[in-house]
Amino acid sequence: MHVTSAEFVKSATKPANYPPEEFPEVAFAGRSNVGKSSLINVLVNRKGLVRTSSTPGRTQLLNFFLVNGGLMLVDLPGYGFAKVPLAVKKQWGPMMETYLASRRTLGCVVLILDIRRVPTEEDCQMLQWLRAYDIPTLVVVTKCDKVSKNERAKQAAVIARETGLPRDEMLFFSALSREGKDAVWGRIGELLAA
Ligand code: GDP
Repeated sequence: MHVTSAEFVKSATKPANYPPEEFPEVAFAGRSNVGKSSLINVLVNRKGLVRTSSTPGRTQLLNFFLVNGGLMLVDLPGYGFAKVPLAVKKQWGPMMETYLASRRTLGCVVLILDIRRVPTEEDCQMLQWLRAYDIPTLVVVTKCDKVSKNERAKQAAVIARETGLPRDEMLFFSALSREGKDAVWGRIGELLAA
């Protein structure tokens, strides 16, 4: 995908404030600090479009971005940050489920995992929701530059075991080296076309 424009549209917490359902939409989900903003910024070739979070878990909003005037990307609020107040944590589940259940233009969700970590219960919960709502899902395993090829294979097996995902449903990515960028766009294109 050749990105010629990418712009912030708006933030929202509830459907009344979402932008109209005009364009096919791809949403990005993952634990706080997993590298979600970095992934989106690499995909759209814009360093600072999505603010990378020095304070993980602070942005409990859905952020909508329009790419090439015809594709909406949604940065979903990160989960699993210990220091988020309980009240905020309690909002997260319903906010996420409302979006996943109601957004008619949602074409696929990109779930981001860290190559160095065992997937958490919240990661698995997210995968279960995506299956329950029958939403096409792409799992991107990021920060691959941080591990050796050997370690990558070992960790991929751990992720496959914990999530039940087949190995070939994961794409490896690095925001640093940009490895996997074309593969991620390619797979998004396939899921949107399906
Ligand atoms: P978010 O909270 O999920 O949006 O995570 P960010 O994109 O803000 O990334 C969290 C931290 O991980 C930042 O310090 C990033 O620079 C770093 N990071 C993100 N992706 C990568 C990657 O692929 N490789 C490396 N080495 N660091 C990364």
